[in-house]
Amino acid sequence: MLLFSGMAVHEFMEKFSTNEACYEYLAQLKWQNAYICSPCAYAKYGKGGLPSARRCSKCGYDESPTAGTLFHKLKFEIKKAFWIVYQVISQKQGVSAMQLSRDLDLRKNTAWGFKRKVQEMMQSTENFALTGNIEVDETYIGGYDEGEKGRSLEEKTPVVIALEIRGEQLGRAYATQIENCSGQELRKIFEKHIDNEAFIKTDKWRGYLPLKESYPHLEQEKSDKKQNFQRMHQPISNLKSWLRGTHRWCSHKHTQAYLDEFHYRFNRRSFPESMFEKLILRMLNHKPLIYKELVGYVP
Ligand SMILES: [Zn+2]
Repeated sequence: MLLFSGMAVHEFMEKFSTNEACYEYLAQLKWQNAYICSPCAYAKYGKGGLPSARRCSKCGYDESPTAGTLFHKLKFEIKKAFWIVYQVISQKQGVSAMQLSRDLDLRKNTAWGFKRKVQEMMQSTENFALTGNIEVDETYIGGYDEGEKGRSLEEKTPVVIALEIRGEQLGRAYATQIENCSGQELRKIFEKHIDNEAFIKTDKWRGYLPLKESYPHLEQEKSDKKQNFQRMHQPISNLKSWLRGTHRWCSHKHTQAYLDEFHYRFNRRSFPESMFEKLILRMLNHKPLIYKELVGYVP
């Protein structure tokens, strides 16, 4: 199901039906503020050799829109790369590397590698802490892996989730993979994602106790699953079913990437129209990543 009405699938396919259209879109975004030649900083340019490339009028440096970005040295057509980005952000149930490889006639590792790059861009910047009323809870998610056959319950990964409560509405949320439910591990999500002045509610687990020092408005309530922490249930169950649905490639080492992908979309659910552009922009602003640099790389 499509997450956004902003660009339905037929519109997307029409808009980005050719590689030239995709390169032009990248060029418009890359130089949206101004063109500045990378080597010499000159501001005037002419047409470059590659599609939508720009050639500096002073030093002659010819820069393609993909140079120095996450699209650098792409081994397949740019329109396929656009399709992967679009699928990752628009499919509520997610999209597997296997499916992308079939749909786009790419090797599975190639599809997986590029999708992982997209996921990398969905990491939180950690610049916008959760504020106001927040619930924090721990849960376990299953160990699935697209690459490994079978799974066992021992692989279950503890995860701590923080969710903003805004009256009747849910605000933003983040989840962090942890080794165990000790205070030291639980602290990770607080330090990354929670404002010190927030009003935080947790269950009575003693692991949260030491955090009261830095988070004076942290209150602990006996967890009665039928009565309180209700608000957490829906997002947690959505996360779990999403992971189960498509992401059989979610072993322990990839868990955080999947948590980030899920929450990137969740936190932008109110303004889906801009999600594609924002993500492409992040990819343009990121230096090239080689396969081996991807978290959880399996040779
Ligand atoms: Zn130049």
